[in-house]
Amino acid sequence: MLCQGVMQDIHPSGYENVRANVSGAGAERGEAFQIGRGCIRYNLINQFIMEVSVDLTKHAFFEGKIVPLGDAKINIATHGFLYGTAVFSGMRAYWNEEKKRLFVFRPFEHFHRLLNSGKMMAMSIPYDEEGLTQIMLDVLRTDNWQQDIYLRPTVDKSDMGIGVRLHDLTDEFSLFVTAFEKYVKNDSNAHVTFSSWRRIDDNVIPARGKVAGAYANSALIKTDANRAGFDEAIVLDSHGHVSEGSAMNIFMLRDGALVTPPITDNILEGITRRSIIELARNELGIEVVERSIDRTEVFIAEEIFMTGTAAQVVAVTKVDHRPIGAGTMGPLTTKLRALFDDVVHGKNPKYHSWNVEV
Ligand code: PMP
Repeated sequence: MLCQGVMQDIHPSGYENVRANVSGAGAERGEAFQIGRGCIRYNLINQFIMEVSVDLTKHAFFEGKIVPLGDAKINIATHGFLYGTAVFSGMRAYWNEEKKRLFVFRPFEHFHRLLNSGKMMAMSIPYDEEGLTQIMLDVLRTDNWQQDIYLRPTVDKSDMGIGVRLHDLTDEFSLFVTAFEKYVKNDSNAHVTFSSWRRIDDNVIPARGKVAGAYANSALIKTDANRAGFDEAIVLDSHGHVSEGSAMNIFMLRDGALVTPPITDNILEGITRRSIIELARNELGIEVVERSIDRTEVFIAEEIFMTGTAAQVVAVTKVDHRPIGAGTMGPLTTKLRALFDDVVHGKNPKYHSWNVEV
């Protein structure tokens, strides 16, 4: 039971109560939002996204110390909130029931990308990857998590006031954790569309890093796809090449080779993408090619899947009503999903260096 204490209110529209919401999706569909003391449970159940719950009694790292998540509040005049001047990562830790252990997946790589995102946004962050990993372990140990979870480290421009810029501002690291299972509900048989939105260009907002403000682009992509009845969207970049999904990288199998857009095609440099490339090459002996992908190549691919920390490996079986391959999850996607699942749960000794034990 996540929510303890008296449920004080059932709120049908809920927007004013969702400040701590990690996604916000679902609110418009009018599900009941149960507001309890020190705990908010969001029922984000809809056709496309699974339920996400945020327990405000769990602990977070905020302003240099570990505090209950309910106390980790920012002011509405904060720069990062006003201008999207924050960078973040989304990480997962997986519970291994057999070993009774929690394993965080590649935190060093996530923190490295976070620090790089910070560099692009002229941030000064007083921690290195090891320091951030230690904070993460301290937060996780405080709550003794024993289930699959999602971790959200953020660095935001934390000063208050008006004035759009990056320089002469304070950068504040924070981290919260939430219980998490599936992100894309239909992850073995997804029907995706080409978004009418274009992926942000690296000359507009750094595309290879995770900049909070850039996620307005992802949100537009996701909502329009879901409202049109699709599970997810493929996004073209400003040159008309396939870049990625709303928050996932993309792969296609063509003529026996696994093809994915290069990091110079305005994609986020995904940690799952990198891991899948290694697994495909080293474990399955598949040729992996990083090259630009044209729109119509997608329709004639043998298999397509999308990858991300939240989404994991999503099998795409239809694009704009055209079946991909046989129209069901293909053998390579099936194998990679199983391999990846074992690796993230700390069940594959060869990849133990990717799992940090809590
Ligand atoms: N692209 C975007 C825009 C994303 O937000 C994400 C999720 N972080 C990804 C791709 C996948 O990256 P990763 O595998 O590191 O989660």
